[in-house]
Amino acid sequence: MTGRVSIVGIGPGNDAMVTPQVADVLAQATDVVGYFPYVERITPRAGLTLHGSDNRVEIDRSEHALQMAAEGRQVVVVSSGDPGVFAMAAAVFEALEAGPAAWLDLHIDVLPGITAMLAASARAGAPLGHDFCAINLSDNLKPWALIEKRLRLAAEADFAMAFYNPRSKSRPEGFEKTLEILKDACGDDRPVIFARNVSRPDETIKIVPLSQTTPDMADMRTMVLVGSSQTRIIERAQGPIVYTPRSVS
Ligand code: SAH
Repeated sequence: MTGRVSIVGIGPGNDAMVTPQVADVLAQATDVVGYFPYVERITPRAGLTLHGSDNRVEIDRSEHALQMAAEGRQVVVVSSGDPGVFAMAAAVFEALEAGPAAWLDLHIDVLPGITAMLAASARAGAPLGHDFCAINLSDNLKPWALIEKRLRLAAEADFAMAFYNPRSKSRPEGFEKTLEILKDACGDDRPVIFARNVSRPDETIKIVPLSQTTPDMADMRTMVLVGSSQTRIIERAQGPIVYTPRSVS
C-alpha cells in the first residue's frame, strides 16, 4: 500500500469535537504519532501502533512519521486542537523540506480540528467577533522581546487577543509581564477570559476585569482571551456573555 501521513487535529478534549473526517482517518491508521497525552486519547485496537513521545522532540517525531510512511504505513500525526496552530503541521513540513527528496512523493494531508481559542471563545460568547490575533506566550521557540513587541502592537492596534501556552512552571514570569504590559496599554475594565480545560469534565470559565487579573489565574491548560476596547458583557442570571460587536465606528 502507498504510504501516507495525515496530520490531524483532535480538538480541545471532548470526543464530540473530533471531526468525522479525522475519526475516519484514525480508523484506517496503522500508526499514530504524537505527544504522549494526545496519543493517550486514541483508543487502542489491533493493527494500530501508538507512538507517544515527549513534547520537545517535534522534528524527530516528524521524521519518524515520514519514514514510516515511506515504508508504506498509514501514519497519523496527532495534535490537540488544530494541527496548524502552534502544533505539528509546521514541524512535519520543516522535516519534509530538510529530508530526503523521496519524501516529497508521499501523500501528505492536513485535517483541521477545533482549536482551543475557538472552543474557549464559544464558551464565553463571541469575544473574537471582530478583528483579533493569536499569540503563543511561550518563549521556547522565540525570544521574549518579540513576544513583548507583538503584545504592545496588538494592544495599540486594539485587537482582541488569544494567548496560547500562557504560563508554565518553568517560565512563570512571562505571564506576569504580559499582564503588566496589558494593564499599561488597556483600560482597567477590559474583559479577560480564563478558559481552563475547555470541553473537558473539569472545565472552568472565569471572566475578570483586567485590573483584577493575577498571574496565578492561568496555567498550561488555560486559554486566555482579552477583549478589545469594544468588547461588551451582557449580565444574565445564567451567567455573563462576552461579545465584541461586528462593527466599530
Ligand atoms: N494545537 C493546539 C494548541 C497547542 S498549544 C490547538 O489548536 O488548540 C497548547 C495550548 O493550547 C495550551 O497551553 C493552552 O493554552 C491551549 N489549550 C489546548 N487545549 C485546551 C483546552 N481544552 N482548554 C484550554 N486551553 C487549551
